[in-house]
Amino acid sequence: MIYDLHTHTSASDGLLSPPDLADLALSRGVGVLSITDHDTVAGCERLGGSAFPGLTLVPGIELSTTWRGRGIHVVGLCIDPSNATLRAGIAAQQRARQLRAEKIAQRIARHGAAELLEAAARHAGDAPIGRPHFARALVDAGVAKDMKTAFRRYLAAGKPGDVRSGWATLEAVIAWIHAAGGDAVLAHPAKYRLTATKLRELAADFVAAGGDAIEVCCGSQAAAVTATVAAVAEEHGLAASAGSDFHGPVSSWSAPGHYSPLPDHLPAIWDRWPI
Ligand code: AMP
Ligand code: MN
Ligand code: MN
Ligand code: MN
Repeated sequence: MIYDLHTHTSASDGLLSPPDLADLALSRGVGVLSITDHDTVAGCERLGGSAFPGLTLVPGIELSTTWRGRGIHVVGLCIDPSNATLRAGIAAQQRARQLRAEKIAQRIARHGAAELLEAAARHAGDAPIGRPHFARALVDAGVAKDMKTAFRRYLAAGKPGDVRSGWATLEAVIAWIHAAGGDAVLAHPAKYRLTATKLRELAADFVAAGGDAIEVCCGSQAAAVTATVAAVAEEHGLAASAGSDFHGPVSSWSAPGHYSPLPDHLPAIWDRWPI
């Protein structure tokens, strides 16, 4: 069975609609899919009633949080998207996103990009605005030649568009996920560029805050990275999760269902589920 427990749709910063993602995942042999959009459950709710024979849909979300001043992502899986505590948390995160978007636009406007908020909002459509929507707007405006350059010059850590946002704490987002009956997964631990010591400190704080699992495999990653994260999972008693972090059918992202092999000695998060 191929599990993909980390994907995005146009309900956040992904390029495909939820049904188009489900079709693509099925065509790639995925049997269990979670749509984990940034700070919204709109994408998985949209698929809630649709029938995709052969595809089990696990309701999910990717929540933004801050740990020691760094942006850290926590995936919630097997959640009840209608849970009132989770909904209140999501509403607060979306307000923080909107305020951050206004600040990002003001800061980048000084660098010669006018009406950027409106352009980013057009890219976002109904989705909460994220940095990729700004990146697409900067490419449209000819300010950056591609998304990668837009991030490198304007949106990445330490750049003008790197605005401190009012994300909830690790403890809070894990509590929302648990209130909604779900499991909390520390997302893509290798993407934070932490030293081995800092990664262990993060894992320890994640466990202390009630976290359940860690993404041992996220998209394509070096075998040495998988081995390091697997060791962290074992040391901290975290179950393993895996996903592509698919955002769209472009070369910068892995395809649905595609991630480096998961070591089979680790307990998988899905073994806890009644699916
Ligand atoms: P946000 O949720 O608004 O903080 O934006 C974070 C998202 O930006 C991530 O989930 C990725 O989809 C995207 N992202 C981060 N860094 C880059 C990059 N260097 N190039 C392209 N997309 C990126
Ligand atoms: Mn994203
Ligand atoms: Mn993420
Ligand atoms: Mn993601």
